[in-house]
Amino acid sequence: MNFLNKYSEDFKEYDAMERDFIDDDKIWAQLNKWANPLKSDVRKVLEKAEKKIRLDPEEMAVLIQNKDGETINEMYALANRLKREIYGDRIVFFAPLYISNKCVNNCRYCGFRRENDKVERRTLTMEEISDEVKIMIGEGQKRTVLVYGESPETNIDFMCESIRQVYNTKCRNGEIRRANVNCAPLSREELKKLKEVGIGTYQVFQETYHHETYREMHPEGTIKGHYRWRLYAQDRALDVGLDDVAIGVLFGLYDWRFELMGLLYHTIHMEEKYNGVGPHTISFPRIEPAIGTPYASVPKYAVSDEDFKKLVAILRLSVPYTGMILTAREKPEVRREVIPLGVSQIDAGSRIGVGGYNQSKGNMLPDKEQFQLGDTRSLDDVIRETCEMDSLPSFCTACYRAGRTGEHFMEVAKSSFVHNFCMPNAILTLKEYLLDYASDETRKTGEKAIDKYVSKLEDIKTKQFVLQALDRMEKGERDIRV
Ligand code: SAM
Ligand code: SF4
Repeated sequence: MNFLNKYSEDFKEYDAMERDFIDDDKIWAQLNKWANPLKSDVRKVLEKAEKKIRLDPEEMAVLIQNKDGETINEMYALANRLKREIYGDRIVFFAPLYISNKCVNNCRYCGFRRENDKVERRTLTMEEISDEVKIMIGEGQKRTVLVYGESPETNIDFMCESIRQVYNTKCRNGEIRRANVNCAPLSREELKKLKEVGIGTYQVFQETYHHETYREMHPEGTIKGHYRWRLYAQDRALDVGLDDVAIGVLFGLYDWRFELMGLLYHTIHMEEKYNGVGPHTISFPRIEPAIGTPYASVPKYAVSDEDFKKLVAILRLSVPYTGMILTAREKPEVRREVIPLGVSQIDAGSRIGVGGYNQSKGNMLPDKEQFQLGDTRSLDDVIRETCEMDSLPSFCTACYRAGRTGEHFMEVAKSSFVHNFCMPNAILTLKEYLLDYASDETRKTGEKAIDKYVSKLEDIKTKQFVLQALDRMEKGERDIRV
């Protein structure tokens, strides 16, 4: 069968639906209703958010439309507080691994789009994947997200083989312990295979929730041109028990205010249909310039740094228990400002060229990259800075390895579990990093952070366990977790 028609039977399920859960007119009506909220309207919403209850769309609209400096600052302070109360001071680290930049689609903003002849096309072989992974492990990475274009060469069997290859690559003390996947929407049959191979999170970004903009950005006749096939990708994953799923928007394609409402409606749809299970994480990349891709240099709805800050804080308050990922697309100065507003995961030491870890040795590979990175610092530098910013870097993968995903993860996130399990595990995985991979300077800074966070552990038994585990690690043991 022609690759472009591979889902034509599956599309029928969605073509037959009268409507989907994104109602463009309703979203605009809600935003317009709250075009000029009063301070008291904003404070009422903040009071609800303080209780760590997911906000409703109209409440989110109030925060989105608020232009009053005083209450915006109150919102920032609350976002920071909620983040610390729910997640602790942890920041989870990962790095992407680009497997292939071959793609049959033609998304206007992406360097990998089919018509871009400025990019050298490449799919890693299994040996090359191992080479990349060894470098990542050697730098201290434990968690990755594998990124694929959509092409016959990277079909589901190839994807599964590449994921197994990542997990099976070991060197010295290290290995990748959690491989998430960012790929095109898949059918239920394909998703079953991804589940069997043991992926972490399945990420699909809707890019834009606005129907008309979606059509403009994704030409008809391409697989990606089917809005609903993409919109219901997470549903299909949850249908087959792959219950760690992630959503996202590519900011710059359409009005950020509409897109935030789209993310919230997507979350509500999932929670209502799947027994309270919402997305595991939300990503909010902004469009970055990409070689041979003029649209990416002048996105029509480019989001300013000020609005970006606002949208991160609003998301934190609206979906308090959903992880939030800020990528190295953003420059260090933006990351410093935005992380305290609610971010729970970041990548560092990332190379986004196919074969980038092996070839670039820290430099860019513009002819194989999807877009340009904003933060090209090493993992070591970012770990050190994170410790200096009163946060605790974590490479923990315990929940995933203990099978705490989906509904179970939601229960976990909503209890004191984070403080009794996630914080100790963050300390132990940071220790592992400091012992095996850190520079002297980072080790010194990191040890101070460990002392500080051990002293904050309230449960006596947990504290004792952590102190003993740190000692065992000094003596050579690894991969100890609570
Ligand atoms: N091909 C799959 C897909 O489109 O879902 C997955 C890989 S795609 C490379 C991953 C994500 O990169 C896209 O979902 C999009 O949000 C993001 N992206 C594409 N072009 C970008 C650009 N110029 N700047 C920043 N992010 C971009
Ligand atoms: Fe292909 Fe994904 Fe890029 Fe679109 S965003 S061109 S589907 S790699």
